[in-house]
Amino acid sequence: MDFPFHQDTIRQLKADGLFRSLRRVEPDPQGRSGRLMIEGRSVILLASNNYLGLSDHPRVKAAAAAAVRRYGFGSGASRLISGNAPPYEALEERIARFKQTEAALVFSTGYMANLGTLSCLIPSEGLLIADRLCHASLIDGCRASGCRFRVYDHGDTDQLDRLLAKRPANQPAVIVTDGVFSMDGDIAPLPALVEIARRHGAIVFVDDAHAMGIIGKEGRGTVEHFGLEPRSVIQMGTLGKALGCFGAYVAGSRLLIDYLINKAKTFIYTTALPPAVTAAALAAFDVMEEEPEIRKNLWRNRNYYAEGLKSLGFDIMNSETPIIPIMVGDSRSAVIFSERLLENGIFAPAIRPPTVPKGTSRIRTTVMAVHSRDDLDYVLETLGKIGRSMGMI
Ligand SMILES: *Cc1c(COP(=O)(O)O)cnc(C)c1O
Repeated sequence: MDFPFHQDTIRQLKADGLFRSLRRVEPDPQGRSGRLMIEGRSVILLASNNYLGLSDHPRVKAAAAAAVRRYGFGSGASRLISGNAPPYEALEERIARFKQTEAALVFSTGYMANLGTLSCLIPSEGLLIADRLCHASLIDGCRASGCRFRVYDHGDTDQLDRLLAKRPANQPAVIVTDGVFSMDGDIAPLPALVEIARRHGAIVFVDDAHAMGIIGKEGRGTVEHFGLEPRSVIQMGTLGKALGCFGAYVAGSRLLIDYLINKAKTFIYTTALPPAVTAAALAAFDVMEEEPEIRKNLWRNRNYYAEGLKSLGFDIMNSETPIIPIMVGDSRSAVIFSERLLENGIFAPAIRPPTVPKGTSRIRTTVMAVHSRDDLDYVLETLGKIGRSMGMI
């Protein structure tokens, strides 16, 4: 039974240049990371969050395989029933150590970590205030909380300050932000947020999905990047991006973690991650800590590529990280740009509303540690040609 509503919606999406469909991607035939095979052709992958290439690292793959042999594949139940296999606690201890917090709790995905944590973090008479460009999972978590929910314009700490000042005395409040904004690649002004929170008796919740393993001297994320005290914020991050695995965590005090084990529904009512996933994540931590040159390569590539784009005359917004958007504006032009890239052997999809605000459609490119200098030179040359032919530069 089809709903006419679905048909109307799809017709409208197509008319607006906003229809999305899935594209089949296969591994590069020669197993090179930083590349994919699409429609039978090897293309340069400029659209993965596997920044360090760890998903292809032999130690990560071997750890997953060994865990499958030992534990089987599925976990069979939620953590609170019989799914709490040994690699879980080792992983949580590892995350807490890395993030320099008392404790950590693993969730099945970042979406679930944000939804489950924000929806129970403070009582429903509280206030949640989020940056306008926060990830959809943060916004959904705020909405699901039943709390009062406000947004402040991207990075507008004055507006945030005013919103907090206006609230009733003693109302519990949380400031919610991405650490690295996922579609813009800029870094949240965390020291200012922590200072505002302190003045107003609020808490900061930072989503480090794209900061974990990337920024800060040791890759510990935004707290390390800014030299903040880990206790000053609640940190969430994912294992599916720079760590190349799957899953997510919240890191904070032992009390917070005990509370979440008892109250976060997306933790309680779901099957535990397969033990092999947690074992792979542990191996990814080993690699990240023992091979810091991978992160150095990432930054070398990132800076080379970003400088190249700027000197070509592209608008890369305020990107400060390996997420580098190329602003297009109109969603149809962004799609055309992306199709032209694919014809030339480069995969970087157009990002359109509602993922980004109207009129800010873009090509979101991400650099990886494993990209070769030759690949990056080819990408820059090709982007330049297409950008000029479309009158963008
Ligand atoms: C990817 C992402 C998430 C979701 O994490 P998953 O583990 O993929 O569900 C949450 N927040 C931000 C900022 C992200 O970029």
